[in-house]
Amino acid sequence: MSKMIHRNLRHTPPTAVCAFGMYLRDSKGNTYLDASGGAAVSSLGHGHPDVLAAMGAQMKTTAYAHSGFFTTDVAEELAQRLATDAPGDLNNVYLVSGGSEAVESALKMARQYFVENGEHERRIFIARQQSYHGNTLGALALGGNEARRRQFEPLLMDVARVSPCHEYRYRPAGQEVAEYTAGLLAELEQAILEVGPHSIIGFCAEPVVGATLGAVPPTPGYFKGVRALCDKYGILFIADEVMCGMGRTGTLYAIEQDGVVPDLVALGKGLAAGYQPIGAVLARDHVVERLRGGSGVFQHGHTYNAHPVAAAAALAVQKIIKRDCLLGAATVRGTTLRRMLRDAFGTHPHVGDIRGRGLLVGLELVQDRETKRPFDPDLKLFAAVKEQAMDCGLMVYPMGGTADGRRGDHILLAPPFIATEADLAQIVNRLSDAL
Ligand code: PMP
Repeated sequence: MSKMIHRNLRHTPPTAVCAFGMYLRDSKGNTYLDASGGAAVSSLGHGHPDVLAAMGAQMKTTAYAHSGFFTTDVAEELAQRLATDAPGDLNNVYLVSGGSEAVESALKMARQYFVENGEHERRIFIARQQSYHGNTLGALALGGNEARRRQFEPLLMDVARVSPCHEYRYRPAGQEVAEYTAGLLAELEQAILEVGPHSIIGFCAEPVVGATLGAVPPTPGYFKGVRALCDKYGILFIADEVMCGMGRTGTLYAIEQDGVVPDLVALGKGLAAGYQPIGAVLARDHVVERLRGGSGVFQHGHTYNAHPVAAAAALAVQKIIKRDCLLGAATVRGTTLRRMLRDAFGTHPHVGDIRGRGLLVGLELVQDRETKRPFDPDLKLFAAVKEQAMDCGLMVYPMGGTADGRRGDHILLAPPFIATEADLAQIVNRLSDAL
């Protein structure tokens, strides 16, 4: 009997034995078309020879150098590249080992930013309901995903919550988008005033909501309004781009499409496209200058910060995205995939919505197409769809409805940017069988 602890303690998943391009194969010979990039990770598909070559070369020179003693050319080049391509003066890059670590690091940098200024009373973050920002205790406290949080409460931090921005059906019937957006911003301002601006560190949100809502872009002007409120009250705006960043929505940073510059950005997943565990925090100049001019030390660190092989993988991924014009591919393929999904499921009785940006695509499952009434959350339909899809040789990323009934089950599609039209058609066919 295996001693490994799997997430589902009663069930051992299939054993992956090889992965190439759009496919993974298990030990029984089944193949799976990767329509979710794992969890929106594998943006270049599997076994990309150029990434493997870059990792191999780095392993042969310096496989590991502790960042407390050394930096490396590869980490510096990666940081330079991320910063150059980032909007505004997000010129400073801190490399960690994954998405939750990136979020934790951003939260701590934000806290220290105020502590350096003697503002110790600032302790509170504002985040959104139903949000997910990672599974470590700080990131979990920040997130508003009730199901994930419940059994670990009370959590470590105080977080005030506001509504997510959902461009689709949660808007009251007849309400204009502009009016809806203004209402959300008024709610955020109200929350800031209730908590007291001088107690707040920052506001954190995903520019395009990935797993918890199922590929939901913001309404036009929402993040401009968020930025203005953060400026007005002197609090930091932290963008969690762990899932939606690194080209997934058709621009390297999803927030570019909203025309604002956050103070801190967390990255993970697509950064090294699954070839190595790596995450990053990008910080604006004013954030880092305050720390540099104050204690001069970021009071934080992990053993695998700026890991050279992870940095080599991420750097290779960045180069390939540019060389092969994959941002454009993500935009075009995303539009194609949504069109194919609409053609296939536009009148399906249980598909309530098809949406997304770039190759971050969501399909919402409801009891009734017209009223959008969600399925009973206890049915855990999302889990059944995932299993059924696996039986049909397809990987989709599932998320469940909430007990408050505001959100239905949905599945997330986030295929590699290298997907061809034929691959997309195959995804839709297999999904059709699964549904
Ligand atoms: N933030 C967001 C938006 C995410 O989607 C995730 C992962 N699903 C995380 C943070 C945490 O990343 P990781 O699982 O790599 O720790």
